[in-house]
Amino acid sequence: MSGSAPILPGATLGVLGGGQLGRMFVHEAQRMGYVTVVLEPDQSSPAGLVAHHHIRAAYDDEHALADMARLCAAVTTEFENVPAPTLQALSRSKPVSPAAEAVAIAQDRALEKAHFVRCGVPCAPHAVIETPDHLAAVQDDLLPGILKTARLGYDGKGQVRVATREALAQAWNELKQVPCVLEKMLPLAAECSVVVARGQDGQIVNLPVQRNLHREGILAVTEVHPGNVSEAVAQQAVAAAKSIAEGVEYVGVLCVEFFVLADGSLVVNEMAPRPHNSGHYSQDACDVSQFELQVRTLARLPLVQPRQHSAALMLNLLGDIWRSDGEIPLEPDWPAVLALPGTHLHLYGKTEARAGRKMGHLNITGADAAGVREVALKAAAILGIDSF
Ligand code: ATP
Ligand code: MG
Repeated sequence: MSGSAPILPGATLGVLGGGQLGRMFVHEAQRMGYVTVVLEPDQSSPAGLVAHHHIRAAYDDEHALADMARLCAAVTTEFENVPAPTLQALSRSKPVSPAAEAVAIAQDRALEKAHFVRCGVPCAPHAVIETPDHLAAVQDDLLPGILKTARLGYDGKGQVRVATREALAQAWNELKQVPCVLEKMLPLAAECSVVVARGQDGQIVNLPVQRNLHREGILAVTEVHPGNVSEAVAQQAVAAAKSIAEGVEYVGVLCVEFFVLADGSLVVNEMAPRPHNSGHYSQDACDVSQFELQVRTLARLPLVQPRQHSAALMLNLLGDIWRSDGEIPLEPDWPAVLALPGTHLHLYGKTEARAGRKMGHLNITGADAAGVREVALKAAAILGIDSF
């Protein structure tokens, strides 16, 4: 269902999924005066712990979806693997953004690549592998490559690097021969991403281009300041992200990830139909954060072009930095980190720190990029995060 009147503060907004992105959406919606509902099966989840109401049920539970539709004026999602029928069912009675069709594209790397091609944005040379015949037909020039499951991958999970045809065949077997995309391994000079927000009326705004450093397939550091990528790359990335959103008449917040190659050319990697880890710096460095953009698009409030007022660097805080002294887990030295100027700590309320688990992030803001980097390096040293 759609409509065009704004949903005003005091109304109830719902989110599917209880992770950290849902938690930060809930915080932002509450700041703006909305009541919040989270649908999430886990009893103790980052978003479920802070929302006004937590409906604890599976995403396809009919009663839960009926409750969600009754309680909420509009519903959004915080992760892309919400079953498409759930979004479709809700959208019959309440506005849902992003729409099921857009989420379905982002859920499947093969559909996603086809969408990029349709929008005229170059992506990595690739082949879809669904059958042994597809495997046999793979061109040698896609190797060395990365075999990625078409669905359900995140943080580098469901990906295998392969150098030879034999390794490719073995990797596909190990992935249980599920539908996959083989991508040519590209020589990356840098990675960047762009968050755009598009309203129901077609108005579209963007956050500045984020430069990202990944470690072992997981985002580690995001830096945002003028000159983080070349002006030409920045302009192309913003234009590409907007055309990818417009190509599906997207409503909501969308993040598009890109590779910058050694020759300066830009290649799109993937899109996330929601706020993104690389956009977290906007909470402290921009006058409108990516989560406020999500609230505004969902509630059909006006969109204004966000302005970045501070140079920013974000450090992801993974479970690895919680060390243990025998049986006793040791908290990172937060007072030492917070003694540094321009540090903003965000923790997601997760109690168990596991290696590679996203526990929180630290935003560092300041007047200029050099000063921010200096503080960030000190914070990283205190926290035991590798230098960058
Ligand atoms: P997330 O959901 O956390 O963004 P993901 O599991 O969807 O991660 P990708 O974004 O596909 O994974 O890949 C993770 C990282 O692996 C990329 O950010 C990049 O560093 C590297 N990578 C992926 N594909 C390629 C490629 N074709 N060539 C070179 N490096 C790549
Ligand atoms: Mg990615």
